Amino acid sequence: MKNYIKHDPWKIIEDKFNPDYNKISESICSLGNGKFGQRANFEESFSGKTLQGNYVSGVYYPDKTRVGWWKNGYPEYFAKMLNAPDWTGIKINIEGEELDLAKCKVENFSRVLDMKRGVLERKFTAETQSGKRLEVFSTRFLSIVRDENAAIKYTILPKNFSSKAEILSEVDADIKNEDSNYDEKFWTEIEKVSDENNTFVTAETKKTFFQVCTAIKTTLTNFSKAENILKEKYAAKKYTVQLTENQPFTVYKYAAVTSTMYYDKTEISKKTLEVLDKAFKDGFETLLKEQENAWEEKWRESDIIIDGDVAAQQGIRFNIFQLNQTYTGRDERLNIGPKGFTGEKYGGTTYWDTEAYCLPFYLATADKKVAHSLLVYRWKHLKKAIENAEKLGFTGGAALYPMVTANGEECHNEWEITFEEIHRNAAIANAVRIYVDYTGENKYLADYGLEVLIGISRFWAQRVNWSTDKEKYVMLGVTGPNEYENNVNNNWYTSYSAVQNLKYTIYAINFVKENYPQDFERIKNVCNFNETETEKWNDIIEKMYLGYDEKRKVFIQNDGFLDKELIPVSELDAKVRPINQHWSWDRILRSCYIKQADVLQGLYFFENQFDTETIKRNFEFYEQFTVHESSLSSCIHNILAAKVGLFDKAYQYYLNASRLDLDDYNNDTCDGCHITSMGGTWMTIVQGFGGMRIKDGLPSFDPIIPEKWQKYAFKIMHHDTLLKIEVVRDSVCVENLSDKSAKVLIKGYPTEIQPHSKTIKIL
Ligand code: BGC
Repeated sequence: MKNYIKHDPWKIIEDKFNPDYNKISESICSLGNGKFGQRANFEESFSGKTLQGNYVSGVYYPDKTRVGWWKNGYPEYFAKMLNAPDWTGIKINIEGEELDLAKCKVENFSRVLDMKRGVLERKFTAETQSGKRLEVFSTRFLSIVRDENAAIKYTILPKNFSSKAEILSEVDADIKNEDSNYDEKFWTEIEKVSDENNTFVTAETKKTFFQVCTAIKTTLTNFSKAENILKEKYAAKKYTVQLTENQPFTVYKYAAVTSTMYYDKTEISKKTLEVLDKAFKDGFETLLKEQENAWEEKWRESDIIIDGDVAAQQGIRFNIFQLNQTYTGRDERLNIGPKGFTGEKYGGTTYWDTEAYCLPFYLATADKKVAHSLLVYRWKHLKKAIENAEKLGFTGGAALYPMVTANGEECHNEWEITFEEIHRNAAIANAVRIYVDYTGENKYLADYGLEVLIGISRFWAQRVNWSTDKEKYVMLGVTGPNEYENNVNNNWYTSYSAVQNLKYTIYAINFVKENYPQDFERIKNVCNFNETETEKWNDIIEKMYLGYDEKRKVFIQNDGFLDKELIPVSELDAKVRPINQHWSWDRILRSCYIKQADVLQGLYFFENQFDTETIKRNFEFYEQFTVHESSLSSCIHNILAAKVGLFDKAYQYYLNASRLDLDDYNNDTCDGCHITSMGGTWMTIVQGFGGMRIKDGLPSFDPIIPEKWQKYAFKIMHHDTLLKIEVVRDSVCVENLSDKSAKVLIKGYPTEIQPHSKTIKIL
């Protein structure tokens, strides 16, 4: 754990030059606007530890699979979100000496991510090896209003010298992914220009042929000479300038980043230059003001306020900020990579994380079309999910959604995950239920949801087999959410979820048939669906094998789990934690240690089917063996702990979740932030402490408040009403901020709140 980020309610502050932590700070202070994003790299040269990172949504590369032992059914490639051309470089050379903080004496350094305004600011005083002292101030943002534009203001203040200098303002497309499987570069050059009017590079990805055009315009206080520089995959302008002691010298750099996701190849450079020109004409201050206003608006809808605990306040705002930077719902072809725009690990593509952990945040804090886009993304991939299942031998329209994907095709290639971690299907089906329950938009089932549900139910029906021994349906060869045990039989979470999916699909069939008969006929045709298929589904619902231990009265995570040596995590030597960095894989697989919520994930998803005692017993049994080596674990433990009255634990899990990246708990923030688990952090406050659930279509609150907090408040958008929930030590106030009256349940009591009024209940 590191503790170098200063606590502040609205800002992420690094107030010392920490070259050893540079990659961590680059991740944490990343910027994004849904369409493109970047790590918080320095503008000037830096020869120290850094991961240069720019990413453009939807632009991926199918990197040829690299495995030791090929298995039939493996996908050919792993889709990587590409490290894209870099537009940020402003290189300073003073009389032959390059400004490089790794080679300077650095003082008064700060790198500040101002989350309120969506702006990254940096300042430092550097003394070069020849003794020249200069101060630098930079302000950078990626516009969330014009999501193809970005800008930098970079000011140099010479402190003890006046001299000529060269300033290089660049676009560099000669970029490589750190995680390239065969050390290849993935970009080829299409066009590059640096002339009096324009500086840009259009680069194309190999194999997928996406083009990205990156264009810049630079203005400076003054210059005596401007040269156009062109190299392979590189275009720049080099200015010769006069720096004068104690006189600020400012560079403004404007950028436009576009891709062939949105423009035709024939016009991409022309369009990019238009986008750039418009921003350039409007100017830095206008763009900045727009940015600040737009962020103010976003915070109005999605902020969470915590009084009395600055670390907790900063933590939750950081999570909300990153989620809002990563996904805007404007394009149904995009999704949320586990690292968002903050790093390369995990390929930057779609996992079950989206449905299981991110959906609730977007449902409650944004217009419902944002969550709708996330769901339609999977509907659009249904055909590919069916093909994916066919490759593994399934038939008749059974759909297996990929564990990892960029375009609907599976691209994960560890057999125990690709073939076996099939619970991802359950999260996708369950997301349909969550969406419909939350929005009340039942028509979604007829328009999209039912087709997905049928495909997934068909998969479950073929994935189980009848055990004559048990006289039950069993599900063999599975990996549950606990990836520290593979190829297990009867993973309770997967089997239980499959049953719930089947039940919901049958409900949805009847619902659509009755309410949208024409759609039902269409769906029957499209899916080639025969209603007799549900007979087997009902049989599975009735006769699925779900392990239960009578002695301990807990669900059995999977066959054989209770045969393990059951030694609680508390007895493990701290030196062997995290076990995935200290133990052999063999030892981990045979141990009782659970990577992340597994049985508990099921109790979370289907909570209303279990009484509190059952949840508590299972929580207490499984929590003691859980090592939380996935960022997705703490949030589920927080919510269940709060539910069963273990409030201190709930608070501890909240801190783990919300400050995971800020304090680098898992020693891996240098690779990027855990963006998808940030949705889970939001859930810890709203569902964990706020006790929010949807009951019979109504938002229901049953709040608690952690000891350390004086007050917390969050907002949720439900149907067309915006509600503000404020919890203080002894009461909860629910305020209806809309023009329509709202019905809610507070501590189980139905309450109607008139427009623009509030109700207070004692806790
Ligand atoms: C977790 C998975 C998750 C993936 C991406 C893994 O460490 O075990 O559940 O989908 O990370 O976040």
